[in-house]
Amino acid sequence: MNKVSIGLRGWRFDESAVFASDGSFLPLDEMPADTRRRVNRLTALVNRPCGACWLEHGDEEVERCNTARVVYGEPMAEVVLCDDHEPDFVYWFNEAGGSRYRGGDDLDDAFYEWFLENGRAPDGYAGVTHVDSDPDALPDPEAALDATRDDAESEESGKDVDDKGDIREGSDSDAESELDDNDGDGSDDPELDLSREYPRSR
Ligand SMILES: [Zn+2]
Repeated sequence: MNKVSIGLRGWRFDESAVFASDGSFLPLDEMPADTRRRVNRLTALVNRPCGACWLEHGDEEVERCNTARVVYGEPMAEVVLCDDHEPDFVYWFNEAGGSRYRGGDDLDDAFYEWFLENGRAPDGYAGVTHVDSDPDALPDPEAALDATRDDAESEESGKDVDDKGDIREGSDSDAESELDDNDGDGSDDPELDLSREYPRSR
């Protein structure tokens, strides 16, 4: 099954979980829960400044921050990075103990803390090579919201979709708390593929 990134490199999805057979986005409520959560989250992340740049420059000089190109981690605890800073994250994850935060909700805090204490990859550290090298060529996650809106408009079935594309569905928050409960292990959750959005050891 083909895997695809949306908006940013890093998170990868089964094509059949996000696209209809004609290549358009599926409405969010037709995606598997974990996929829906990530695609929804990506719509908020695509234009963010790189988190590491932001720590260096802050809001006062936000125009000096590079736009994020890659995302690692779990939704709401993710790290978004530019190409220049991605090797620092990969080094931290693979060589400096970062992998112990895999799947957890403090991965972002742990990385940023290390970065603030001048944690950096050594010069020339290669990091990972990506199948998808150009985020500008990736599908825009906003299109998933459009597909969802179109779908909601075309059926009168009353799926409760608001303007931001939030789908109010009881099962969604339940799924999230289940994920939180298993301490980031996630091995018993068949929908959570923890191998896909973290750097692989070389
Ligand atoms: Zn950066």
